[in-house]
Formats: sequence, C-alpha cells, structure tokens
Amino acid sequence: MTTNYKPVKKLIDLDLNSELEAFDSAARSKRDEAIDVADYRSERGKVVATLVAAAATAANDETSFGYAERMLGCARRQNFYYGKDFLDSATGELFEGFGNLFGCGLKLCQSCTARAAARNRKIARQAVQATKLLRREHFCHESGKWVIEEERLRFVTLTIPKIDASLIITFAILRRAFDLFRKLKFTKDYFGGLIKSGEFTVREDRTYHAHIHLLAISFFVPEDLIKWHWTNCVEKAFNEFGIEFKAKQANVNLKLVDSLERAIKEICKYMTKSESWEKIPPDQLLEITRIKRWDRLFEVTGRFRQTLKLLNAEKERSSSDLGQEVSLTEGKKHGERYFNTEVISDGETFSDFGYSEETAAKPHEILKKMKRENWRDIIERDGLEKYLEIFYRQLEYGQKIRKLRLILKFPTATFSDLDGQPWDLAEIEQFALQLAARGVEVLKT
Ligand SMILES: [Zn+2]
Repeated sequence: MTTNYKPVKKLIDLDLNSELEAFDSAARSKRDEAIDVADYRSERGKVVATLVAAAATAANDETSFGYAERMLGCARRQNFYYGKDFLDSATGELFEGFGNLFGCGLKLCQSCTARAAARNRKIARQAVQATKLLRREHFCHESGKWVIEEERLRFVTLTIPKIDASLIITFAILRRAFDLFRKLKFTKDYFGGLIKSGEFTVREDRTYHAHIHLLAISFFVPEDLIKWHWTNCVEKAFNEFGIEFKAKQANVNLKLVDSLERAIKEICKYMTKSESWEKIPPDQLLEITRIKRWDRLFEVTGRFRQTLKLLNAEKERSSSDLGQEVSLTEGKKHGERYFNTEVISDGETFSDFGYSEETAAKPHEILKKMKRENWRDIIERDGLEKYLEIFYRQLEYGQKIRKLRLILKFPTATFSDLDGQPWDLAEIEQFALQLAARGVEVLKT
C-alpha cells in the first residue's frame, strides 16, 4: 500500500466536509492507485465498525451502536467517489482525486483520520516554512548564563514508562505530563516553538506504548537534560493518577531534523495504525466510542503558532465551518503561547446538516447555519431506532448535496463511483432544481 498522498492546495478553502486527496504515481495508473487506497480505507472502516457494533450489541450500548453505524456510513464503498480533471487554480494543472461524500469525523474511522492527518500536514508545512530560525540570546541552563546561539529544527520524542492502564488513562497521563513539561522555564528557555502530536502503539502484552512527537525550534540542548525534566513531569503525572513511578526514567529521543518532509510526515501520522484498534479489548473500544470530546492530539505552539496566526488572519475572519482543528481561537487557559488547546468534538461533522423532522419539511433551513443537535443526544433522548431512521435519511440527503457541491465547485471535473460508474447527472440536476425551487443556496452554508 502506497502512502504517497499529498493534500491538495486550495481545496482547504472549500466548504466541503471531506477534502479531496490527490496522489502521485509514476508506476501505476493514478486511478488504480486511488481506488486501492479508497478500498483500503473502506475495508478498514468496515472492519473496525463491525468490531464496535459487536461490542456495542454485547454491552447493549445504543450510542456505541450508533457510532458504528455512522462509521459504516462513511466506510461503505458507495460513499466514496473518484474524480478526474479537477483544476488547481493556483498552478493551472489538472489533477485526480477521491474522497468520501459523507464524513463521519470519528476517531476510529480510517478515512476521517487520514483526512485529519492531511490537514495537519498542511498546517505543519505552513508553520515550518514561514517561521524563521533566529540567532538570538537565550538562557543556558548548563552554564547558568545568557548566551547567543543559533536555533535549529529538532525532532523530540517523549515517552512514558509502561503502565497497566486503559488507553484513555494512558493518554490522560501523557497529556498531563506534557502540560507540566511545556510550562517549565526550561522548556521556554530552550524551545521557541513546537508542533506536537500524540500517538500510540499496542505492545505484545496489550499495554500501550504512548508517546509524543515534537517538531521543535530549539537551541542546542543535551538529551539528558530534557530527559531529566521530562522524567520529573511524568513522575508527577503518575503520582497524580495514583500510579507508582518505578522506572529509572521516562525516555526521550532527540535528533536534528535532516529531512523536513519526513519530520512533518512523522509528526502528522494517525493517532495509531488502524490495525491497533483490533488489538484493543472490546470494553476499551466502547470506552473510546463514548468519548464526546477528545483532548487535542495535534497542537502548534510558540512562534509556529504566531506564524499561523499571521497567515490565517484573513482566513480566520472569513472561514465558516472549515475544520475545527484549524481554528485559531486562543485556548484561554494557555494565553498567548498556545494554538487552540480546547478539546475537539468527536464525530460531529458538517455532514449532519442539522437534519430533523422539522428541517426535513423545510430543506433550505438545513443549509443554514443552525444549532446542530448532537447525534449522541438524539440517541439518548429518542433511542437508537429513531436515530438511525434520521441518520439514513440524513446520509442520503447529505450525499446528494455533496455531489451537487462538487460538481458546482469543480466544473472541469468528471465524477464516478469506485467501480467507474459515472454519476447520474440527470438525477443530480433534478435534485438541484428542486432545491433551487425552494430558494436553497447550495454553495453557501
Ligand atoms: Zn469517517
């Protein structure tokens, strides 16, 4: 399976809930490659959704079953499309792409996490390319003096010792340790900006190897000095969670960035490999599906953050529902230093369109910015059966709207499903006419 995808410039500007992904391939036909990737994501999504559905059924957990159905809606092959001759208005080049019509936005979804990673790569590239490394004064902890030095880009990995805890607790401890670490005077003295991501793998013994990657603007700093500070923070976090810290130290790996693109890919990987979800006990899988709001795993701080703020100053004013993770709202708690560190919601996407009985009768209302009801709340209040009835209609309607939007946004492109069956343009046109008759503006939200 190839991983050579590039997020496409400009598409982030569109109010589409799924970004397209373009790809380069010298060896194979681009279409074949796209279909392969789409098939892989579809398969992975279905496998994990099936696991969640089984666990939810066994536990009689309606909300988690709803989670699985949303994931399936996203993963089904018919939810994917393939298009060619998209015009890149920046370069004038045509490209090919594929995407999902409905995006579930859930953490366990292969398509949606891939999309988030692509978006993060774009953010990371922007931040790194536009931030100047400086020669400036900083406080050196070894000599106890102010010195003038050059900043460099470094790649830092912070890990925590093995613990016997659930994934959620493991991540909470990692998060706490990092919050302590980033507030240290040491960290502020040596690091001018950080791009941070959190991820995990599952060990043979089913414990979690959770760690943080940092792409950092930093002065020369001995690895052991970082290790000493990081270990202190981890020990403190362990204690706060009532876990004894038995290890000698918490590990740190430090290296200079040689290939920037490789470092960016490393920092913007998924939270884990899709296969990891299969190794997680069903009760923990359910625990994950029950999380309404996740701590932010991808963050940008310091001068990187300031750079993005400048670059996005214009966009921020005009952006509507463009990915919550791109939002530059200040996390109040962290003042100037942080990119938005507020938690992000899991699984609420633009695709939901605020569909309800009421809005079904007035479709134009659906496209207005309205307070959307969380799908979890609907299940809790009205039950699973009622919710699924709404969801399937929402899905069908949302997919139609999205097709129409894609056609209008990319007049040069032609679309088909993954089997090569062209979209039924007459049907879409019919739908467009119905919407127009009701005064619905499809491109605006
Ligand atoms: Zn999804």
